[in-house]
Amino acid sequence: MSSAIQSRRPSKVSIVGAGSVGSSMAYACLIRGSADVVALYDIAKERVDAEVADLAHGSEFVPSRVMGGGDVNETANSDVVVITAGARQKPGQSRLDLVGVNAGIISSLMSQLVPQSPNAIFVIVTNPCDVLAVVAQQVSGLPENRVFSSGTLLDSSRLRFLISQWADVTSPNVHAVIAGEHGDSEFPIWSTANISGVPIADWKVDGERVFTEQVLDDLGHEAAEAAYKIIEGKGATNYGIGLAGSRITEVLLGAGHAVLPVSAMVHGLYGVPDVALSLPRLVSRDGVGAPVPIPMNPDEIKKFQESAENLHDTLEALKS
Ligand code: NAD
Repeated sequence: MSSAIQSRRPSKVSIVGAGSVGSSMAYACLIRGSADVVALYDIAKERVDAEVADLAHGSEFVPSRVMGGGDVNETANSDVVVITAGARQKPGQSRLDLVGVNAGIISSLMSQLVPQSPNAIFVIVTNPCDVLAVVAQQVSGLPENRVFSSGTLLDSSRLRFLISQWADVTSPNVHAVIAGEHGDSEFPIWSTANISGVPIADWKVDGERVFTEQVLDDLGHEAAEAAYKIIEGKGATNYGIGLAGSRITEVLLGAGHAVLPVSAMVHGLYGVPDVALSLPRLVSRDGVGAPVPIPMNPDEIKKFQESAENLHDTLEALKS
């Protein structure tokens, strides 16, 4: 006799790397119920076992289940795999400075993770995430829609927060994007930034423009340099990226399309070489889709091209 109740396979996200970023992301995913099962894997067995135990002790209070440990088969049959494993910036180091050591880690991880979860979508968070997304896609040979990086999702969230503070409105009312590299050459697309449909340059209080050129410049710099400041203060950034990763997971497991500024391959857009960098893109169960046709002014296009060149140079240096 067949049951009228259809059983559904639980959705699973695996987070690789149980350091500051990975464990915060697991925590965010568990609290938000981003997937039915949240698995955490790290080569540092003692560390990951401790993180999993600590997270599991909150099971009563969250909608998802946690598992994990020091064996890569903890990640088996995942729908989404988020990679946060690898070296992080030391104070003063740029993200691109990490490329040598982290490219090796990502290559070796992809060859172990893909056989465990042959149908998963892979999200690279380890820095420099734009460059490593290309490495991960190339070593795995997976279709480009199934390998991308969190790119400037966090940076854009930082910018939206800063604008919301300046305008004294809540973040969801603010629509603004940082594009390009998740790193020093990133830039805000000010020409389309708006607060509930009002172009940011036209936002006025008592007849006065709130976002002057100087204010926009300062906010853009503050968003781009936020990570350096946080790393100086506490050694790592983890909560913001943890939440960003949980949001990406939800979109990948959910219904419909979301538009997120994430980093995936561009082919010939504005004449740039084949690199991965961020633009707002459609993201869904099928992974990362095409960039949305966000208008950019000539100055923004130039910055986009410069950012792509920068990433291209790093990719070329990696080959030699
Ligand atoms: P961390 O040092 O706290 O943790 C890294 C973890 O990776 C460690 O636990 C280590 O054991 C593990 N690891 C290393 N090699 C491994 C391997 N081969 N297999 C499994 N695990 C392995 O570092 P963190 O602060 O968590 O940062 C992790 C990465 O995330 C860094 O590259 C950092 O720059 C990056 N990051 C990216 C963003 C973003 O927006 N993309 C934001 C913050 C941090």
